[in-house]
Amino acid sequence: MARFVRNLVLIAVIGCVAFLAAGLAYGDPRLVGLLEFRIGGGDPEGPAAGSGETGQAENTGKAAQPGVQPGTADRAADSPPPGLEESDSPLGTPEPPAERSDSYKFLAVNADGTPVGYSPCRPLHYVVNADLAPEGAAGLVHEAIKTVSRATGIRFINDGATDEQPVEKRAPYQPAAYGDRWAPLLIAWTSPDVAPKLRGQIIGTGGSTHYSYGNGPKTFVTGSLELDAPQIAAELDRPDGASYATAVILHELSHVMGLEHVDDPVQLMYPEIGAPDGLASGDLNGLQELGKAQCRKDL
Ligand SMILES: [Zn+2]
Repeated sequence: MARFVRNLVLIAVIGCVAFLAAGLAYGDPRLVGLLEFRIGGGDPEGPAAGSGETGQAENTGKAAQPGVQPGTADRAADSPPPGLEESDSPLGTPEPPAERSDSYKFLAVNADGTPVGYSPCRPLHYVVNADLAPEGAAGLVHEAIKTVSRATGIRFINDGATDEQPVEKRAPYQPAAYGDRWAPLLIAWTSPDVAPKLRGQIIGTGGSTHYSYGNGPKTFVTGSLELDAPQIAAELDRPDGASYATAVILHELSHVMGLEHVDDPVQLMYPEIGAPDGLASGDLNGLQELGKAQCRKDL
């Protein structure tokens, strides 16, 4: 019996973020611009239009084993038993958006054009490192998660606090820390000292890691979201700061779910927050599509 019968391919797809909420909100022209960077490329780019901040950070796929089919009882050493908590049908139903819009894009798509998302047939566990969370900010995360859960139908489970710190290449399977399952989504209130990608005006990053059997369909199995606690604390001191902080968290969570930036300034997935009105029609339609990702008893 082959030791590894699955050809697992791991790729992290991370949407990075530059938020210039204050610039647009308070009319400071120095802050009106857009910083973006590519995970794979490293350094922030200068003010620029457009999106394209997707990166493929990691690929630790096993060597191909032609002819081997997935779905047997064996499993690779770097993954938990397949199908944990996976039901036969989606656990929730996305709330239909009030209006149709195609103003959304996905961070990753499969060969058949379907977006890469999380399996809606299992809960998405998350943990929060709130050591640096600004006063009163913890509730904003949980409210944002409720909003994204309604939009996608994905059921989230709060596994509580963690002391895990964000790292650039987070292991999606950490049995010593989280047991024999995919690591939960990590939501970290952190700082540029710990997460260098948050340097400058970048206020958050977020993304997920997908697995596939070779070139087969991909599904996200875990993710991480980093929030620049000092910057968000400063925002919270301003009028309407909670709305901005919520918008930042929702934008990041939408990256985690699989949405890419769009050029449409009305959408929350526009790379700058102009008005903190939350998820707009394009965002909501995209999240609904992500909630239709296929179920994966084999992952
Ligand atoms: Zn972004």
